Amino acid sequence: MPIKKPMDMMGPGEGAAFAAKNAGKLMKLSRYGRLTMAEFAAKFKEPLLGRAFLAAIPGYYKASALVATLASMHGGDSGYPLGGSRAFARRMEQKYLDLGGKAFYNARVEKIVVKDGRATGLRLADGREISGDFVISCADAHATLFFMLEDRYTPDVFRNLFDHPESYPTPTSAMVFMGVGCEIKEDCASLTLRRKEPVLLCGRESEAVGLLNYGFDRTMAPPGKTVVACLYEADFDYWNGLDKEEYLAEKEQLKQDAARVLIGRYPEADGKIEVTDAVTPLTYVRYCNAWRGSWMSWGESKDVPRYYPGILPGLDGFIMAGMWTLPPGGLPGAAASGRFAAHRLCAMEGLPFKTI
Ligand SMILES: Cc1cc2nc3c(=O)[nH]c(=O)nc-3n(C[C@H](O)[C@H](O)[C@H](O)COP(=O)(O)OP(=O)(O)OC[C@H]3O[C@@H](n4cnc5c(N)ncnc54)[C@H](O)[C@@H]3O)c2cc1C
Repeated sequence: MPIKKPMDMMGPGEGAAFAAKNAGKLMKLSRYGRLTMAEFAAKFKEPLLGRAFLAAIPGYYKASALVATLASMHGGDSGYPLGGSRAFARRMEQKYLDLGGKAFYNARVEKIVVKDGRATGLRLADGREISGDFVISCADAHATLFFMLEDRYTPDVFRNLFDHPESYPTPTSAMVFMGVGCEIKEDCASLTLRRKEPVLLCGRESEAVGLLNYGFDRTMAPPGKTVVACLYEADFDYWNGLDKEEYLAEKEQLKQDAARVLIGRYPEADGKIEVTDAVTPLTYVRYCNAWRGSWMSWGESKDVPRYYPGILPGLDGFIMAGMWTLPPGGLPGAAASGRFAAHRLCAMEGLPFKTI
C-alpha cells in the first residue's frame, strides 16, 4: 500500500508512478484477487489445510489478503512484536509522551463537541470537557459516527456498510488463554487441530480448533511456565443474544473445551492449568468499544472504500482515522491511517510533514 502520503493527496503522476513500479506484483496478486479465501481453501484436497488458511484470513476476504500477509512476513516487514500488543502500544505511547503528548486513561469520550460546524473538543463520560484545535478520532468508526457525532455527519458509504452487517460481514473471535505451570515445547507457534469428532460450541459445529503457543515470547510467562490459547470462530449475534446466565455458561463451556484440547495435545499440561481467561466478541465491545466485536473491518467489495480520507462533509477541524478508514484494517491499515491523519493535519496547518 502506498503510505508516503494520503492517497487522495497524491498527484496523478504519483499514483501512476506507484502503479507502474508495482505493475508486476499487482498482476501476480490479481490472480488471487479473483478468489475469495473460502474458494481458495476449498481447493485443498485435505480440508484441514484449507481450514488452517482460514484461521489466518476469513473466508469472505479475497485470497490476495493471504498472499499480502505471507509476503510481508517473508520480507521481514511484519511479524510478532515481542511482549505482544501491550508492549507494542506502550512503545507508541512512550514516543508520543517524549514528543510532548499527554495521555488520559479511563477517559471514555461520550461526545465530540461541535460549535458552528467545527469540532472543538471532547466531552468525557465523567463530564469533563477537553478542548482542542483539532479532533482526530482513532476510536471505532461506528461509535465515532453514530454516537460521538450523533449521526450528524455519517457519510453514505459508511451508513450503508454499518446498516447491513449481513451483506458486509466483519470478523470476530473467541479465545481462551491458559497459564500452564510447565514448559510446553512446540516448534510451531500456531496450530490448527482436527477434533476427533465435531463438537457443538457457541451455536456452531466445530471440527477443528486453533491452538497458539506463546512459549517463543519469554515475556509472556515466568520461566518454567507457558501461555497457550485456543482460538475459536465466533458469531457476534449468537453471543449478543445470550442473557447473563447463558453467557457465563457458554464461557465456561469454552474454557472446558480449551482445557480438553490443550491436554489432548500436550498431556504434560494435565492438572497444571493455573489461570484461564476467556475472551468473547462482547469482550471486544466492552474493552475496545469495537462494533460487533470486530477485530478487522470489511473485506473487499465494490461498496467498501479502499481508503476513506477521514474528512466528514460539513465538519471542520476533524479527522477520522483507524482501521475502518483503510479496509480491511488490521494493524498496517490502522497505522497507515494514523500517519495519513498526521500528514493531513500538517497540510491543514501549512506545515511540512516530516517523520523521524
Ligand atoms: C486476537 C486478535 C488478533 C489480531 N491479530 C492481528 C494480526 O496478527 N495482525 C494485524 O494486522 N491485526 C491483527 N488484529 C487486528 C488489529 O488488532 C486491529 O485491526 C487494530 O488494532 C485496529 O486498530 P484501530 O486503531 O483502528 O482500533 P483499536 O485498536 O480498536 O483502537 C481503538 C481505541 O479506541 C478506544 N476507544 C473506543 N471508543 C472510545 C471512547 N468512546 N472513548 C475513548 N476511547 C475509545 C479503544 O479503547 C481502543 O483503545 C488482531 C485483533 C485481535 C482481537
